[in-house]
Amino acid sequence: MAKRVAAKACPCTSGAAYADCCAPFHRGAEATTADRLMRSRFAAFALGDGAYLWRTLHPTHPLRSRPEAEVVRELSRAKQTLRYQRLTVHDHDEDGDRARVLFTAHVFEKGKDRSFTELSEFARVDGAWRYREGLAVDAPAATIVELLERLS
Ligand SMILES: [Zn+2]
Repeated sequence: MAKRVAAKACPCTSGAAYADCCAPFHRGAEATTADRLMRSRFAAFALGDGAYLWRTLHPTHPLRSRPEAEVVRELSRAKQTLRYQRLTVHDHDEDGDRARVLFTAHVFEKGKDRSFTELSEFARVDGAWRYREGLAVDAPAATIVELLERLS
């Protein structure tokens, strides 16, 4: 009798199975939206996939000015100290080759809450979404418009 094995849930906490969610991107496919790229990067942090995190950085991201092997090692190790428990995407917008995603990453370090909210910027490079930079946000906002109004 075949034993049914529950599909492994995706670490990006979308509720979908990993195989149907972020796995294809980690194996080399390009995320079709910045929102998907964001989710797949969170999942990569949770899985310790530093190579994917490096690959999806925009060429102008500061980490790109450092040696690849060193950065990949550091990113891969983040999961040793941090537990990536849950990702909440509050809002995202896309305008041509630019996109923004407002999210909260629920992250814990030895029981201590290290969760943070960020407005991430993404840009398309040769058709593929890449992570450009993130702005730390003090208080979560429901939408990007609401956040920008508060900051201005
Ligand atoms: Zn996923």
